[in-house]
Amino acid sequence: MSLLISNLHATLENGTEILKGVTLEIPAGEVHAIMGPNGSGKSTLSKVISGHEGYRVTGGTITMDGQDLLGMSVDERSRAGIFLAFQYPAEVPGVSNANFIRAALQSRLPKGEEIDAVAYYKRLYSKMDHLEMDRKFTARSVNEGFSGGEKKRNEILQMMMLEPKYSILDETDSGLDIDALKIVAKGVNAMRSPERGMLLITHYQRLLDYIAPDHVHVMAGGKIVRSGGPELALELEKHGYDFLKEVELVPA
Ligand code: ADP
Ligand code: MG
Repeated sequence: MSLLISNLHATLENGTEILKGVTLEIPAGEVHAIMGPNGSGKSTLSKVISGHEGYRVTGGTITMDGQDLLGMSVDERSRAGIFLAFQYPAEVPGVSNANFIRAALQSRLPKGEEIDAVAYYKRLYSKMDHLEMDRKFTARSVNEGFSGGEKKRNEILQMMMLEPKYSILDETDSGLDIDALKIVAKGVNAMRSPERGMLLITHYQRLLDYIAPDHVHVMAGGKIVRSGGPELALELEKHGYDFLKEVELVPA
């Protein structure tokens, strides 16, 4: 059981290649972190995994527990168990947070089956309490007028409610103060399970102090150029990405 990305190449619509052969396996039960300089393709990778329409896959494969993801629509991937917490979460004016999450859950039920509203709100409130989110966020439009930190917390709320098999968190830590970071980490840690794999994209070791990864990868120039254990993140914190200048950009 794993999310398996193999020799993935992807371009922008204009043909510019951004991902230049990414190979990465995230087994269920593990947390992997990807670090790397700005512009190295981290967000592109997360968007290509979730099926964003602005990118074209020109080579390689992505499978989830053996199931081909590339042939599936965004919606199908989500219902199959892929979740992406966006680096820049979109605002959805006119749709309340509670209705948004409820619709996503409803779409996962067999035809004719209805969500039990009482049980739904009970569960929603308990997750919000876990994330120390005020109840007023249930009735507010999705992310509209939310602060950066509130948006990131809201992404984690969606993840906790949808219980995906594989979660990708794209810089969920950026823009968070230390208290919010701890709360988000608590939410993520509560989701760790032998059945679930997680990919954390981050710039900072700080997040990894609270969410201990099993493996750390460095992405540069559209490839994974180094992989290691948690100590790799500490090394990067100390020495930065200088090694990239010396090392030829070949997959580790
Ligand atoms: P990272 O998340 O590692 O900072 P990105 O995946 O966001 O990097 O971007 C990788 C490169 O691809 C950058 O040079 C970025 O400008 C470019 N890029 C990504 N998406 C687009 C897009 N939709 N249009 C134009 N350039 C893009
Ligand atoms: Mg990014």
